[in-house]
Amino acid sequence: MGNSKTVCYAPLVSRVVWQDGKIAPCCVYEGDIGSCKNGEGVDQEKIDQLLRGLESHGSVNACHVCWEREKLGSFSTRSVYSEPGTEVSFLEFNFSSLCHLKCRMCDPSNSSSWLADHKKMSETLDFLIPSPGKLMKAFESREDLISYLDSIDIEKVKFLIFKGGEPLLHDEVRTTLEYFRDKKCTDVNISLNTSGQVPHEKLLPFKFFPNVNFTISIEGTGNLYSYIRGGKKFSIESLNKSLDHLKSYSNINIISNSAITPYSYFNLVELFDWIVTNIPDNSENAGLGIIYPVTVPEYVSYRAIPQKLRKEAYNVNLKKLRDLNISHTTVEEIHRLLGVLLAPNEEHDPILLQRFIKYTLSLDQLRGETMASVIPEYLPMVNQWEIKKAE
Ligand code: SF4
Repeated sequence: MGNSKTVCYAPLVSRVVWQDGKIAPCCVYEGDIGSCKNGEGVDQEKIDQLLRGLESHGSVNACHVCWEREKLGSFSTRSVYSEPGTEVSFLEFNFSSLCHLKCRMCDPSNSSSWLADHKKMSETLDFLIPSPGKLMKAFESREDLISYLDSIDIEKVKFLIFKGGEPLLHDEVRTTLEYFRDKKCTDVNISLNTSGQVPHEKLLPFKFFPNVNFTISIEGTGNLYSYIRGGKKFSIESLNKSLDHLKSYSNINIISNSAITPYSYFNLVELFDWIVTNIPDNSENAGLGIIYPVTVPEYVSYRAIPQKLRKEAYNVNLKKLRDLNISHTTVEEIHRLLGVLLAPNEEHDPILLQRFIKYTLSLDQLRGETMASVIPEYLPMVNQWEIKKAE
């Protein structure tokens, strides 16, 4: 493939199955390379076309998330696939949109709990990500899943990844684990993205696998955690309880995963402090786990927030950082992350700001919540917008 800047082997070594049954080369590619519905499988012509695009231009439109994150100096998905290969060694499943949470940066294709709120909001907001209108399932039956697994050389698979919805609510996870166990492929590295707030009996099928990573999502502390996650019944206290239980499994390693939107901007140092204190096994980014800025949907990205406010958040966090008793390496990493996440030198888009405010107020009204109670720093911005709207 072209020069080192354009290398990506995802189309050759990775398969991601989405909730609608579409197959993609990675989790951020905007398009498909086939479908697992009706036994269709992978479309070799689409793979060849993508490889040609990556080789000749270094970039194709459907890969824009990678380029955008790299521009910000953040983690880019294609860095995972920089090793040359021709066999499928990464297998990812998003079996269903079934999820008990409705996070503010999520949507009805990824969480069934979002369906009702989206339906009401779309009566007044015309810019929302379209809804499938129903629960999505990649495989119609257990037999369909088994036949997809049969089409892959399982012994070559090194990484088995489950995302969602909430994968611990999906029966297909158990079916897949039993398939790997029965084929004696238990040395595969398993990763599972979860809210961490899960029924404990769902952990049993993992006991046959020595290498399991649970990636726990967290984007805010205190009441902000519940505000972002979609309701008071999902509290940081219940997450802490669940974590204590997870930590009792010696084969399960816990990593944190933080998808940062403007809702977290004034809480970043508290969030980092919580991560370092509660997830001591994090090996990435000086113990801070996986952290990246949300770029899609754009109305919850950094571009929605005026530069002045992002700079203010940057300075507020720096000030709080001085009082924190953490290692020098972690402090340095936090400095770097603040620059990446708050992008203080990047311009904002006034249309996205309008959308961010409309979206937030609409959700607040539906869920009986108030942004000002968790992010008072945004109150002047919202007031100013409301005055302008009334003029
Ligand atoms: S460049 Fe990025 S988006 Fe495109 S296939 Fe590779 S990892 Fe996926």
